[in-house]
Amino acid sequence: MNIEYMKMEFENFLQPEQIVIHAPMKKHTSFKAGGDADFLLTPETEKQIGHIIEVCKRNNVSYYIMGNGSNLLVRDGGYRGVIIKLASNFSKCVLLGETLECQSGVLLSRLAKIAYENELEGLAFASGIPGTLGGAITMNAGAYGGEIKDVLHSARGIDMDGNIHELVNGELELGYRTSAVQRKNLVVLSGVLHLKQGNKKSIKVMMDDFDARRKSKQPLELPSAGSTFKRPVGHFAGKLIEDCHLKGHAIGGAQVSTKHCGFIVNIGQATAKDILQLIEHVQETVKDTFQVEMETEVKIIGED
Ligand SMILES: Cc1cc2nc3c(=O)[nH]c(=O)nc-3n(C[C@H](O)[C@H](O)[C@H](O)COP(=O)(O)OP(=O)(O)OC[C@H]3O[C@@H](n4cnc5c(N)ncnc54)[C@H](O)[C@@H]3O)c2cc1C
Repeated sequence: MNIEYMKMEFENFLQPEQIVIHAPMKKHTSFKAGGDADFLLTPETEKQIGHIIEVCKRNNVSYYIMGNGSNLLVRDGGYRGVIIKLASNFSKCVLLGETLECQSGVLLSRLAKIAYENELEGLAFASGIPGTLGGAITMNAGAYGGEIKDVLHSARGIDMDGNIHELVNGELELGYRTSAVQRKNLVVLSGVLHLKQGNKKSIKVMMDDFDARRKSKQPLELPSAGSTFKRPVGHFAGKLIEDCHLKGHAIGGAQVSTKHCGFIVNIGQATAKDILQLIEHVQETVKDTFQVEMETEVKIIGED
């Protein structure tokens, strides 16, 4: 890719501060590891997102969409192409009665707060998940018995040809930490959530309870991407890993958390390679011991 030429293309519709070249992705992902992206762009409007996709397609340059980077690992060789980051730069919300319509970069913690302040039920589960609405729809994020599927009415997305799609809940095929978003190659632009009138006090009790459970069980003090693995059918990932005596097992700066074995944490200067080697070691050990396949929940992109 001709970096200078692509920069000129992006400067036609983005401000200089929206364009970062050779962006260190360890600064943009919760794992705090990994290499550089050729470009990190932070569009603020749907029009800018459409332009970026058009420019990438016309120049045969790959792009990848990210939200808050809380479920993402970029390999140490970095990402060749453009990472489009939709976070606080793209996070307007409008509340109409019990319906919340938001741009995809809004943080789930903010959504949960808006719902709570307006005595609306349905988002307490999301208050401690450190991702954006776009990431939550793509992953069908969930916790403590709730998931985004329960409250999502519809989402708007843009495909590689610049076509806008409006998908209702059923069309998004929301399953356990999966959706049709990536299969359909969509960038989620916004979502409409249907909430229910509730009781402010009981919403607060629920949010405080979930918060306390997270703090007591999860290694929130160390960088991670949350649960590294999906829950294998009929098992709990953390328990399988603990039963393989891998608690605290480390490779370089990556460690199986001593607080919750389902989390791989960065205990200091971990490279993406350390994390990936540890993931592989855990997968092999669990497979050898219990004949169970462990699929990663964290999304892995880029080159070695
Ligand atoms: C401490 C910690 C605790 C966590 N706890 C939970 C939990 O309880 N439950 C849970 O489900 N997850 C949890 N996670 C994981 C993570 O927060 C969720 O998966 C979250 O939904 C990811 O959102 P994000 O905006 O950070 O997405 P990113 O990490 O930036 O991206 C994740 C995936 O979504 C895609 N994506 C992001 N935005 C868009 C968009 N606008 N359009 C299309 N695709 C998009 C990306 O391409 C990528 O494939 C936790 C993570 C951490 C670090």
